[in-house]
Amino acid sequence: MRSATVRYLDGKSAAARAVTAELELSRLAVYDDGDGVLSRWPLDSLHSVDRWTVARGPLRLGVRGEPGVRLIVEDHAFRQTLLSAAPNAGRPPKRPLPPALKRLSIMGAAMAAAFTALFVAAPWYAGPVTELIPLSWERQFGEQVSDLINTNAGWGVCESEAGNAALDRLSNRLAASAGLSYVPTVTVVSLPQNNAFVVPGGYITLLSGLIEQSTSPDEVVGVVAHEFGHAIERHSLKRLVRANARSVLLGAMLGGSTLIARQIAEAGASLWELQYSREAEEEADRIAVDILRRAGITTAGLKRWFGRLAEEEGAETGTDDQSTPATNYFSTHPSTLARFQDVPVYAGDQGLDDSEWQAIRTICD
Ligand SMILES: [Zn+2]
Repeated sequence: MRSATVRYLDGKSAAARAVTAELELSRLAVYDDGDGVLSRWPLDSLHSVDRWTVARGPLRLGVRGEPGVRLIVEDHAFRQTLLSAAPNAGRPPKRPLPPALKRLSIMGAAMAAAFTALFVAAPWYAGPVTELIPLSWERQFGEQVSDLINTNAGWGVCESEAGNAALDRLSNRLAASAGLSYVPTVTVVSLPQNNAFVVPGGYITLLSGLIEQSTSPDEVVGVVAHEFGHAIERHSLKRLVRANARSVLLGAMLGGSTLIARQIAEAGASLWELQYSREAEEEADRIAVDILRRAGITTAGLKRWFGRLAEEEGAETGTDDQSTPATNYFSTHPSTLARFQDVPVYAGDQGLDDSEWQAIRTICD
């Protein structure tokens, strides 16, 4: 299959339109019915815009040198043909480090990160700078933040032998499915809200309201997988670097992290009340779906959870938000309804068996 209808964003207008993409010998041409050829890009200029390209689902492409241009390939057969002609299109671009950072990287990752942040401290370096922070430091730092938040914030940490064991088994299964080099820690705290959050290093906290309000285990498992998505992409660390570049990176450079962990823990709740960007949430959703599918766990629970959340939001604002998914898709934040609609349903088990689910449901008793 050499051509297909794809969605195209030209980087100037917000709306995607349907165009025909045709694979030529060494180029990809894009046609509009009315205007003829819109563009012709060398195959090696195409790259995935996702750090994590899911095996199925749309392939989202960017074009080197043309910021904002996106092609969204949904046709599976065309996707396969395109990827065999242009293997790089399935991979994210190598993010170029600013030249100063590149020179510094020989000084050692943590030193370079700290040095750059201390002297430059520009928020838009948060992504590249975060990549220089060693995972070992992030894990150590996150553990302290998580402990301090969970013990100082005045909410109880829920524990039981069977409940902790069930959470550990789930986390192991999801980590194996994601190919993670570490196993995130999942903790339950006694708070009535229907929510969850993750701090750096993959320390995930579930609020007990999430468990109480879930009608079946796959909903909780779906939310945990979503938090795995944030952990894998280090969204929480990036946000902290953006907000606290100097102190976070000074901690990374000096190897100590207690002081900054304490400062951040004091700001506690804001860590999970703050919303991530639209891109970060969508990225975490896509990764969640992929982790669940690879693990053989149904994605129906994640979808149902977004559905319930969308209903609650609709009830709160009194609006019946049925007609907006297309327009919301490109707005600043994803609407919960759009996220609900974007979760494909794959069959699988519930992620927890009856006794594990029972143990988690009673972990705060
Ligand atoms: Zn999220």
